[in-house]
Amino acid sequence: MSNSEKKERRAGIVINEDYCKGCGLCLSACPQHLIKIEESVSAKGYYPAAFVDPEAKCTACALCARMCPDVAIEVFKAKNKVGGNE
Ligand code: SF4
Ligand code: SF4
Repeated sequence: MSNSEKKERRAGIVINEDYCKGCGLCLSACPQHLIKIEESVSAKGYYPAAFVDPEAKCTACALCARMCPDVAIEVFKAKNKVGGNE
């Protein structure tokens, strides 16, 4: 993958900290291991999940979003949302 391709992220997720309760289910759901638990507490008092993908490995498979019981994850591929909550 070239540097320009890395800059042009094709897929990714956004985790809404207001919904995330830090249950960790999305961590085990991600086949690429791109989600971790933050070390600081969110405004809601939980340790929220965070998307960590420096090498742009996310495939937008949406397994993380499907696993999340709190509908906290939105998945993007290119500029189109492909899963998750509204
Ligand atoms: S969409 Fe798939 S690859 Fe991307 S973070 Fe979620 S589970 Fe991992
Ligand atoms: S599954 Fe949902 S609620 Fe649980 S840690 Fe992941 S984003 Fe947060």
